[in-house]
Amino acid sequence: MQLSKFTRISLLGSTGSIGLQTLDIVENHQEHLQVVALCAGSNSLEKLTAQIIQFKPDLVCVPTEEDRKKLIELLGARRPWKLDIVTGEAGLIAAASLSSCDLVVTGVVGAVGIKPTWQAVRAGKNIALANKETLVAAGSVIMSEAHKNGVKIIPVDSEHSAIFQSLQGYSNDDIDYLWLTGSGGPFRTWSKEMMEGATKSDALKHPNWSMGPKITIDSATMMNKGLEIIEARWLFNLSAKKIKVLVHPQSILHSAVEYKDGSIVGQMGVPDMRLPIHYALFYPERVPSSRVPRLDLVKLGSLTFEPPDYDKFPCLLMAKEVAESDTTLPCVLNAANEVIVDSFLKDLLPFKQIPRLLEAVLSLHKPVKNPDLDDIFEADAWARQEAFRLVSAPISSI
Ligand code: MG
Repeated sequence: MQLSKFTRISLLGSTGSIGLQTLDIVENHQEHLQVVALCAGSNSLEKLTAQIIQFKPDLVCVPTEEDRKKLIELLGARRPWKLDIVTGEAGLIAAASLSSCDLVVTGVVGAVGIKPTWQAVRAGKNIALANKETLVAAGSVIMSEAHKNGVKIIPVDSEHSAIFQSLQGYSNDDIDYLWLTGSGGPFRTWSKEMMEGATKSDALKHPNWSMGPKITIDSATMMNKGLEIIEARWLFNLSAKKIKVLVHPQSILHSAVEYKDGSIVGQMGVPDMRLPIHYALFYPERVPSSRVPRLDLVKLGSLTFEPPDYDKFPCLLMAKEVAESDTTLPCVLNAANEVIVDSFLKDLLPFKQIPRLLEAVLSLHKPVKNPDLDDIFEADAWARQEAFRLVSAPISSI
């Protein structure tokens, strides 16, 4: 296929779920895609070593100097001679604004994605955004900077990719509502009482999607859908009141746009993250993929839809309530959620405590209106500290 461009990619978070699936696509389209930078965490240096040998990037970023030494040791004589190995936040920023890169894929999880995304936008790099936390915490500043620099932010989150695809050719004036679909997670059919006793392994069993542990827990609490309302609000520049949540257990309709004339235009496909990643890497072109399985509507037979249960999923309600706010509240919600989910994954608290602790942190926050990036980082640090404090406090005192 004759494509109009060749894309050089900086991949932040190369050994996580999004990173691995991105590399799977790059491997299959080497005539059009090339990786120029890889960034990964301390726990996956061996995987990163194999990726460096296979994809031969110009630059690699690891968190610490110690990781850098370990990586050099692991690479040994196989280290490509021109490879730069950088570290920490400065290293992530260097990877995100690398002169040879055309597109930054932000596959890192959490607020750690904010600064590198900001710097990439300022350097004029297009972004394939898989890090929803960046827009949740800092949507207003990131989107206005992107606008200023003529940067395209192409969503990788499957729902936002579906909306982005359904919006091609139309403007915001044509829209009545965005419909964000969600599977309802592993607890969709559980009663509220049963959910009180949910365990970590129950929460990690997502019915349809294969994703990293943090987002899988966010799907179990439905916080993921709540964060996606906030992400959609900034990405598509719409009031949160125009963004509705629809539970769709089969995860086939990935989201839809309801237009003013009553037409609902959506995007369907198998629940496989390689589909929205593939679209973002090749946007605006439609390129054949041998990696993503085809959807067989006949075999599928039926699709079902139901309203979300806000009583059973208080995290979704909390996020919906702060989504409209032009303050530091969404940033606090996101940061506290990261700490609380991480503590849950480390078996430090039961599932039912997640919304209670979040609510406690939100109620203690003094929101700053129209925050700049400094206000956002300050609120983020405050929320993490408060969440840590509450996670370590006796349950009866919350
Ligand atoms: Mg999603």
